[in-house]
Amino acid sequence: DTPRTTTRIDDLPIRDELRGKSPYGAPQLDVPVRLNTNENPYPLPEALVDRIAERVREAARDLNRYPDRDAVELRTELARYLTRTAGHTVTAAHVWAANGSNEVLQQLLQTFGGPGRTAIGFEPSYSMHALIARGTGTGWISGPRDEDFTIDVEAARAVIAELRPDVVFITSPNNPTGTAVDAETVLALYDAAQAAKPSMVVVDEAYGEFSHHASLLPLIEGRPNMVLSRTMSKAFGAAGLRLGYLAADPAVVDAVQLVRLPYHLSSITQATALAALEHTDTLLGYVGRLKSERDRIVTELRALGYDVTDSDANFVQFGRFADSHTAWRRILDRGVLVRDNGVPGWLRVSAGTPAENDAFLDAVRELKKEHD
Ligand code: PMP
Repeated sequence: DTPRTTTRIDDLPIRDELRGKSPYGAPQLDVPVRLNTNENPYPLPEALVDRIAERVREAARDLNRYPDRDAVELRTELARYLTRTAGHTVTAAHVWAANGSNEVLQQLLQTFGGPGRTAIGFEPSYSMHALIARGTGTGWISGPRDEDFTIDVEAARAVIAELRPDVVFITSPNNPTGTAVDAETVLALYDAAQAAKPSMVVVDEAYGEFSHHASLLPLIEGRPNMVLSRTMSKAFGAAGLRLGYLAADPAVVDAVQLVRLPYHLSSITQATALAALEHTDTLLGYVGRLKSERDRIVTELRALGYDVTDSDANFVQFGRFADSHTAWRRILDRGVLVRDNGVPGWLRVSAGTPAENDAFLDAVRELKKEHD
């Protein structure tokens, strides 16, 4: 009885801008060493796993009820975390949380982008910014970066002045390059964006905890059109939890509530995130280890003769390859999965455990020998 012809996406009456497009996704291959999605390699400590079980058990008793729609306890704890670690005092009123920072970014574009509006990012950068723009009907502008992957302030200012985007994404540290953006640059772009058209500037600090530099959080003070986006996926080692958050003027938090789905954060998610926040200090200990492993990867790759972009994140961009896809495949043949982000000549490796990083370094050492 099964129909003989299969329906394809394009047979459906989908929106024109989705036709022929592919979904976001890194290959999920079953290989011994997976260093391709900037995950934290350390599993959560047992004491935290127990605490999560406890808190989830409590939350389960109330699952007949909708969750706290405003996630007040969680936002209070996230605000406390930021205040303690990011150099600026914020309260629950400044913080909003959603299912991963991807959802935070989507809510921001639903609120401040949308049909007839545009967003800009300085590429190469996190490709989901453009995809979320597309999904929300927001026009996308690909802004420039320099050869060394820093943002050229003058060039960026010129594009903003000319194209007057409604939303400006600044990713610091940037994915996939690892490049941090300094506060001066962010302020220059903020001023340019306000002069062109009052627009929202979204600083995506998903990798903020891994940076050599202080958080850009203090810049939200007195700048209601500036938003800082963060996640528990990386530093908290909780990519599976799906918890992202933003800090901004309380008016922004009120504004995103116009588009959020009611009860978007399940009580299980809220309970789990709260348990993880109780273990912040232990989890930040892993961040310390990952930073020194990241620095070791940079040093060793340079010693092997590779070009390496300075990294403030938990991953490293390295090259240059005449054909990065072939290099990616050669490294994979040695059991190590890295990421080909489509930046010509470059690949990206996430910092793993010391043993995983050794396996990666052995693989690229052999690759280098083949070419010498
Ligand atoms: N921003 C950047 C720059 C990222 O690299 C990522 C994850 N790859 C995200 C946001 C989204 O992370 P999540 O939705 O897991 O919070």
